[in-house]
Amino acid sequence: MRTLVMKFGGTSVGGPEAIRQVTDIVLEHTPHWDRLVVVVSAMSGVTDALTKGALTAAAGDDQTYRALVADLRALHYRAVDQLLRPDGERGALFAVVDEYLDTFETFCRSIHVLGEVTPRAMDAVTSLGERISARIVAAYLRQRGAKSEALDAIELVITDDTFQNAAPLMEETRERVQGRLVPLLDAGILPVVTGFIGATRDGITTTLGRGGSDYSAAILADCLDADELWIWTDVDGVMTADPRLVPEARVIPTLSYSEVGELAYYGAKVVHPKTIRPVIERDIPVWVKNTFNPQFPGTLITREAEPAAGTVKAVTAIKGMSMVTVEGRGMIGVPGIAARTFAAVASQGTSVLMISQSSSEQSISFVIPTNSVPKVVRAIEKEMALELARRDIDRVWSLDDVVIVTAVGAGMRRTTGVAARIFGALAKADVNVIAIAQGSSECSISLVVEGNAAARAVRQIHDEVILNARMSEAKAVPAAEGGAQ
Ligand code: ADP
Ligand code: ASP
Ligand code: MG
Repeated sequence: MRTLVMKFGGTSVGGPEAIRQVTDIVLEHTPHWDRLVVVVSAMSGVTDALTKGALTAAAGDDQTYRALVADLRALHYRAVDQLLRPDGERGALFAVVDEYLDTFETFCRSIHVLGEVTPRAMDAVTSLGERISARIVAAYLRQRGAKSEALDAIELVITDDTFQNAAPLMEETRERVQGRLVPLLDAGILPVVTGFIGATRDGITTTLGRGGSDYSAAILADCLDADELWIWTDVDGVMTADPRLVPEARVIPTLSYSEVGELAYYGAKVVHPKTIRPVIERDIPVWVKNTFNPQFPGTLITREAEPAAGTVKAVTAIKGMSMVTVEGRGMIGVPGIAARTFAAVASQGTSVLMISQSSSEQSISFVIPTNSVPKVVRAIEKEMALELARRDIDRVWSLDDVVIVTAVGAGMRRTTGVAARIFGALAKADVNVIAIAQGSSECSISLVVEGNAAARAVRQIHDEVILNARMSEAKAVPAAEGGAQ
């Protein structure tokens, strides 16, 4: 029994031409697998628009969401109109689009009246994009002769109630997959499942966080014990850097789960950071492929990627960060300051992306998203009130507009001098490094740099440390040849 889960991202279902391409790919592969499950994102831009509608309504604006309803109707109608035949399901699908957009408008009207939007309401609103796209894709597959059915992941992916960032409850999800998805597959049906969304045990809609469709697909792959997971996107695979930032970026043929984990965690948007969690235990190979260049092999992600001679495989950046520092001479040798500091941060539900401590113990610095700074600083000041009054701690302050730049590659583990090469490259470009940390898995090194130096830092590491090392290898495949978008 060979099972494949394929996930198509927002651009891949972004318009009628793209959806046609998606169905070509699906229909080409269907005969080669016993079971095939398709997971789709909302059409590109839709989740952003839904979010904006809810936020502007909450802020007292009752015009923007109405305009967005019209835009979203035009976008979806165009797809339905161009894909579906009038003597087929076209009319029915127009009605589906209307129904979900009416729901959107009704939600926004209520949010406008209330003057606020709860995370729970936000999930109800943002889930609508995938519900529409899954139905359009399934209808078009039917028109092309497949026995396809759209399926809402609220029936499959059971989560906790952390709205907007829900965690799957794997036992329950596994049961649902067995009870609901497997019978469809056994009946020879090709399910098109909504990515991104789930539901609590009580059936309240949740979402897995922005970009979460990759994670949805991985959860289903795990529950089905799939042989492979293919993530179809709009670039040729995972690349040595974000191609929008570094046009010379190249596709990386193979990566390990931990390398991808680090890359995604530190900002490479191509795969959602949680995607590898479900697949890692079952060793499910993951391919990242380009919907618009399907013949190109893409990137293969497995447990052990071949050790790269180049040692650093990719560089990534994550913006919108601040570095918070707790400092004071009285901290030296006092046990428990670090533990209490991080307990205070955790009490605010904020996760720390990077930590560095000065060797003299006179300060602890850590990096968090800028929007969490005020509450985190307040929490630390409260926790350390006594130490601050006694001047054991002088101050708690934040440096805003910093970027974490991360170099990733499992080969770094065994190679000395990688850090030196990185710093050498940055010094040449006059980039000031504010702090440094090595990832716990030893397959990454992260640096904090000022916001305005970030692009320079990424390009410099890419040119000097990644491309140079690869020249001799001649293994890399230029993205342009692959026809990346
Ligand atoms: P999808 O809608 O298919 O999920 P995303 O927009 O979420 O697509 O992710 C794909 C995008 O990620 C690419 O278009 C690219 O701009 C960006 N990206 C950032 N870093 C990388 C990287 N290292 N390799 C490939 N793509 C990257
Ligand atoms: N549509 C969702 C988003 O834009 C999920 C996804 O695309 O993966 O965040
Ligand atoms: Mg994505």
